[in-house]
Amino acid sequence: MHAAHILVVEDDRSIGAALCNALQREGYAAELACTRQQASAAADRARFDLVVLDIGLPDGSGLDLLRRWRSGDRATPVVAVTARGGIEDRIKGLDAGADDYIAKPFEIRELMARVRAVLRRPGGALGELLALGNVELDTVRRRLRIGGHLENAPRREVAILETLMRQANIVVNRDTVMRAAYAADEHATQNALEANISRLRQRLMQGGAEVEIHTIRGVGYLLRESP
Ligand code: CA
Repeated sequence: MHAAHILVVEDDRSIGAALCNALQREGYAAELACTRQQASAAADRARFDLVVLDIGLPDGSGLDLLRRWRSGDRATPVVAVTARGGIEDRIKGLDAGADDYIAKPFEIRELMARVRAVLRRPGGALGELLALGNVELDTVRRRLRIGGHLENAPRREVAILETLMRQANIVVNRDTVMRAAYAADEHATQNALEANISRLRQRLMQGGAEVEIHTIRGVGYLLRESP
């Protein structure tokens, strides 16, 4: 199983860095955003498995950001963090679409327990099980199964496949696939993407997948069931 990718949104850099370190020690991939704007940009360019979201941010409320994510169809689980532990804030946070809630000051190990619990939640309300042919992808646990058999696919390939499965039978623009597969600060090239797609194709073929990825030259990629 691959490391869950977690976005930490926290304007206090020392707290944010401590949270990222703690998450990394637990085996997660963690990224820090210090403003609402940074958080918004991060969530637009990469897929996260979970967001730890400080509500009090210098450039606006984390709740507004969360509401905006939820009114779009971003279902990424969110653990909201606030300085105030009042029942009103808690209710507002949950109403805005948070999956869990923790009030400052908190112990890092309590936050870790909440992160684990939210990530463990079965697909259900939060996660999605995408399926095409005999291929199944659990988008929360990042698990790929071909014909019921669990495949140990790298995160990037899973991200590519997820993007294509969400728009199966439709040509997906190359840039869209690129954005799903690479972080903005990664030096992604068309060749690198092609190499990843080609490894993914190989994996699908070897696993006996009843789906195929077609390259539509100059446009993008198309995933469909094998004829
Ligand atoms: Ca804050």
